[in-house]
Amino acid sequence: MDIASPLPAYEPPHDCPLCPRLAGFRDEQRSAHPDWYNAPVPIFGDPDAWLAIAGLAPGMQGANRTGRPFTGDHAGILFYETLTRHGLAVGSYEARPDDGLALDGAIIINSVRCLPPQNKPTPLEIRTCRQFLQPPLHALPNLRVVIALGEIAHQSAIKALGGKLPKYRFGHLAEHRLPSGLTLIDSYHCSRYNQNTGRLTAEMFDAVFLRAMEFKP
Ligand code: SF4
Repeated sequence: MDIASPLPAYEPPHDCPLCPRLAGFRDEQRSAHPDWYNAPVPIFGDPDAWLAIAGLAPGMQGANRTGRPFTGDHAGILFYETLTRHGLAVGSYEARPDDGLALDGAIIINSVRCLPPQNKPTPLEIRTCRQFLQPPLHALPNLRVVIALGEIAHQSAIKALGGKLPKYRFGHLAEHRLPSGLTLIDSYHCSRYNQNTGRLTAEMFDAVFLRAMEFKP
């Protein structure tokens, strides 16, 4: 199953070999689950987006299985509920990439496009995959604000947008003005773990998007 990207020029190849550990893990998943997507997960959303959401990496049962970010696992339920409430997602989220859901004004780009073992990419893998995060962020003509989901996405987005760490410290609802003029807003990741432990509540996640909506043109 091929998933169409709104920015096909910025997609890694289906068999991207640049991270050997992740390519090997991908091969294992292809053998174990031949009906899953098991490839770098493409960008999803509106090419005219004013809001970009930088995720971490595909979840095994979510994007790695279905091929669309945050689709099919627990994180996606809160994620798409929140986007829909703010008018950033239109249609009905049914946890399938062919459910017809579309984003309006928003786009999702993962910091690491391939499934990492235990959801933990290495620093080298994060750096290597930034070549598939930085160019599309710079190619979005109407971009005003970026939401980073978790500290890894925060660090990778800051670097992709020309900022220097550690000037910009991660914190839920922390807001950073970047040299390019863009604003970056941090959020705890909407992972099942963070929701189950109470680190991130639906209200806390909503507050991030409420703030981002103030940037809507
Ligand atoms: S994580 Fe990114 S750079 Fe690494 S293999 Fe996958 S697509 Fe390529």
